Amino acid sequence: MIIDSHAHVHDEKFDDDRGDVIKRSFDGGMGAIITIGTNEKTSHDAIAVAKEYEGVHATVALHPLHLFDAYTDLEEEEVMEEFDYDKYLALAQDEDVVAIGEVGLDYHHFNETHDIERIKKLQKQVFTEFLKIAGEVEKPLIIHCWDGYEDVLEILRQNPLCPTDISPLERGRGCRGVIHSFIGSWKTAQKFYDLGFKIGLNGIITYSESYDKLIRNSSIDDILIETDCPYLTPAPLERTSRNEPLNVKYVAKKIAEVKNMTVEEVIEITSKSTKELFDI
Ligand SMILES: [Zn+2]
Repeated sequence: MIIDSHAHVHDEKFDDDRGDVIKRSFDGGMGAIITIGTNEKTSHDAIAVAKEYEGVHATVALHPLHLFDAYTDLEEEEVMEEFDYDKYLALAQDEDVVAIGEVGLDYHHFNETHDIERIKKLQKQVFTEFLKIAGEVEKPLIIHCWDGYEDVLEILRQNPLCPTDISPLERGRGCRGVIHSFIGSWKTAQKFYDLGFKIGLNGIITYSESYDKLIRNSSIDDILIETDCPYLTPAPLERTSRNEPLNVKYVAKKIAEVKNMTVEEVIEITSKSTKELFDI
């Protein structure tokens, strides 16, 4: 049984054949799909899909790129949104919601028109508010971060809801989580492991050998596998084609090769960790 710990199967790119894609996933041996909300609309969409399909679980949050005009041509799902604590708290309490995310910091999409200090401050504030929601509903975090790992670490370390005098794994579920689509170094990864966080790896690790050292040095217990579909289609598939949950097996295969394990072992251990983290 394989799990895709980070998908967007509620995305409009699956509107024409969502049922087929999900059926093919479970027929192909998938045990669960976590479908990730990124704003108010997609959080509602994720919950709706989770309610419709057995084995699909939802998450809710406001992605840091929705807090400012990060996109030059705004598509429907790329609109800016003002964060509302009560609205997201209510969404987070839904029984089909297994985690809070994706939320975090994204410093990669700034350009010369942006008031960078203001946007960074806003992203940090909203991220901190989501840590409170995670603590309140006792659900883990799915963190998106691009070019801001040190700031994410600082905010996680200062989370007042998470006692630092007990070991990370004994802290409540709301103090735990995964750094999804991790693209940092082995050194940075260790800092997250020290806080009890895991990393999520996807098709990016199949594009080159850049992450082999990270994979080799990390314990398989600290790794979750994901697709981030419809994006980031893994090699050897056509990178520009639409990705889907079942392709997470290519991510497992790459990890198995680098770590000298069998694909079955990688699938078994990562699935176990994902089920434990998200309580599914
Ligand atoms: Zn995503």
